[in-house]
Amino acid sequence: MTAAVWSDLLRETAAVYHAHDDLTAFAPFPTDLRAQSVVPHAIPSMRLLMAETGLQDTISAPLCEAVVAAAPIARWRETYKGTGIGQDFLDRFGCYSLIGSGGAYHSSTLWAWIVYMPARLHYTWHHHPGEEIYAVLAGQAEFMRAGEAGAVLRPGETSFHASNQPHAMTTHDHPVLCLVVWRNGFDTLPVLTPQGAAA
Ligand code: FE
Repeated sequence: MTAAVWSDLLRETAAVYHAHDDLTAFAPFPTDLRAQSVVPHAIPSMRLLMAETGLQDTISAPLCEAVVAAAPIARWRETYKGTGIGQDFLDRFGCYSLIGSGGAYHSSTLWAWIVYMPARLHYTWHHHPGEEIYAVLAGQAEFMRAGEAGAVLRPGETSFHASNQPHAMTTHDHPVLCLVVWRNGFDTLPVLTPQGAAA
């Protein structure tokens, strides 16, 4: 049963990935995937996603449904616990892995996460060596990259983050659901960017 939930999510993710030029140009979808067991870990954001009603604007309803179906069996991340990022962020920001550490599949070439933010949440400036692309699956958010103007991205739109380029995002009146992909730098987690270092 659990394996079927993950294989549904992988299938729907791959379908969206293969149909998207920005994603396939960023990195080929992995060909070395192997299943691995997931130790579920729940955080408050999991229930927010499962009760979310604001994600109808989407590039793939089947993918959104698969993301929600996997929510109760996923290992939700707590990357910023203990950093001083604030309790509201810890209570409402949601991220779980599909491919990579803590995810249902392993690959040596590409790691992929699901990121969910409800409306009116700010994900402050952070950076990491891994090169990254966000693809908005549903809803919308304002994406910010150091040295550039912010932009509201809608379903199907992407944001590329170069190695160690600080980036941030904010939801306004809508939630957002994203697919996040790294193509390298897997051994180094994101860290918050010191204030003043991102402009
Ligand atoms: Fe990032």
